[in-house]
Amino acid sequence: MQEYLRPDHVADDNDFEETLRPSRLTEFVGQEAIKRKLAIYIKAAKQRSEALDHTLLYGPPGLGKTTLAHIIANEMEAEIRVSAGPVLERPGDLVGLLTGLNAGDVLFIDEIHRLPRAVEEYLYSAMEDYSLDIIIDKGPAARTISLALPKFTLVGATTRAGLITAPLRSRFGVVERMDYYPPEELFRIVQRSARILAIETDSHGAQEIARRSRGTPRIANRLLRRVRDYAQVEGSGIITEDIANAFLDLLLIDELGLDEMDRRILSTIIEKYDGGPVGIGTIAAVLGEDEGTIESIYEPFLMQLGFIDRTPRGRRATRGAYKHMKCNFSPESGGLFDG
Ligand code: ADP
Repeated sequence: MQEYLRPDHVADDNDFEETLRPSRLTEFVGQEAIKRKLAIYIKAAKQRSEALDHTLLYGPPGLGKTTLAHIIANEMEAEIRVSAGPVLERPGDLVGLLTGLNAGDVLFIDEIHRLPRAVEEYLYSAMEDYSLDIIIDKGPAARTISLALPKFTLVGATTRAGLITAPLRSRFGVVERMDYYPPEELFRIVQRSARILAIETDSHGAQEIARRSRGTPRIANRLLRRVRDYAQVEGSGIITEDIANAFLDLLLIDELGLDEMDRRILSTIIEKYDGGPVGIGTIAAVLGEDEGTIESIYEPFLMQLGFIDRTPRGRRATRGAYKHMKCNFSPESGGLFDG
């Protein structure tokens, strides 16, 4: 995948992401069930003048977890402090953040599965009792002092829910999984972004971008900007279906939104391993890609399309994957689908 279009890529275009970020629940497109629940929890917490329960959002990158965290703060009329698992290296880093909060504030920790264990352990009492037990001094002189914290809301986000420890997970009152967006919703997101950025598209052009964005708003927004460049240079400036198609073909993004890496994963399973099962570690080694990246970015979408099956013995390619890759399905290799 072009590095720029990878959904986990933190591009140098943060400003543009900020511009496009919806700030209210009503502006947030799709994820209806999550929105409905959050609206109720937020309203109830506000009526009781309490902080919202700690909330964990998980799912692939680029689906709106950070956006929702900001929206929660806005709707609660509270401030938000933003941090990330890998940044909070020492307990002291967390203590600094927590003691700077006011009652009702939101602390957003992205990639919360990457919190060092020592830091995570401090979070437990902070989340549960709004207190921090700090050990001062060492050896026989060591003492614990308890520090009271304001009642805050922790919003955690992760792409790897499986890596969250049980004690941490159990301290979240609300746990929600974000799903890929269907093309109709991405279409609305593309239209909204086009309006904000004053990009001219016709509805077929916007639909084409929506269809090929891997169910991911971040990719839809980035494609929109890139297709605009193409429309300006190669066309009349308006994003039409032909323009969108021509450019997406140039990027080697196929009609389902799969890019080169997705197709290499499928062809590795199909051609090198006879359709599988093959372990994720082996696939990663063959492709020279990080195993975690394949598991958190590529595989979920391929599974969503029904192209990969996870079995105890590894991944296998489904009949649909063979069809998409225009390979002949051989029942001997993929016995599961025999007959
Ligand atoms: P994540 O934290 O899950 O990686 P973000 O919240 O950073 O994803 O979202 C990436 C971008 O996609 C944001 O800049 C935002 O503009 C856009 N976006 C995400 N979800 C939605 C949505 N439901 N409606 C409109 N735009 C969205």
